[in-house]
Amino acid sequence: MKCPYCQYPDSKVIDSRPTDEDRTIRRRRECVSCGKRFTTYERLEEVPLMVVKKDKTVESFDRNKLLNGMLRSCEKRPVQVEELEEIVEDIEKSLQNDFRRQVTSTELGNRVMEALKSVDEVAYVRFASVYRQFKDVSSFMDELSKFINDRKGEKS
Ligand SMILES: [Zn+2]
Repeated sequence: MKCPYCQYPDSKVIDSRPTDEDRTIRRRRECVSCGKRFTTYERLEEVPLMVVKKDKTVESFDRNKLLNGMLRSCEKRPVQVEELEEIVEDIEKSLQNDFRRQVTSTELGNRVMEALKSVDEVAYVRFASVYRQFKDVSSFMDELSKFINDRKGEKS
């Protein structure tokens, strides 16, 4: 890091501390040439996440949209909004941690379904039926029996 006073290219870090919920690191530096001190901030680059929809159009990730979709599935179910917000948060964080710039709406939907499965069965089935847009009753029943078999597997 170049010294802002003498342009010397080298400095030593004398103190560093996280600020802003650990998203930024503040470093106090000292120029090894002139000895003056200055501060730098290191910030995690926030990459906007894009969602590629089934018709190949792209839109920016909208956590409210995702949350609303889940809320509809959870209507009259004993599910806390906080639980759903946490799911959205988790999905978004895990994508960001993988440095993903885009995600397909299919993958997003699958992740939500996975998460809902453990929160509320009815909500899961509702979400799956809207999301997968089952063409007929039999493909829906297939999904449902797969789900039921999965659960049997978990219990035994
Ligand atoms: Zn200097």
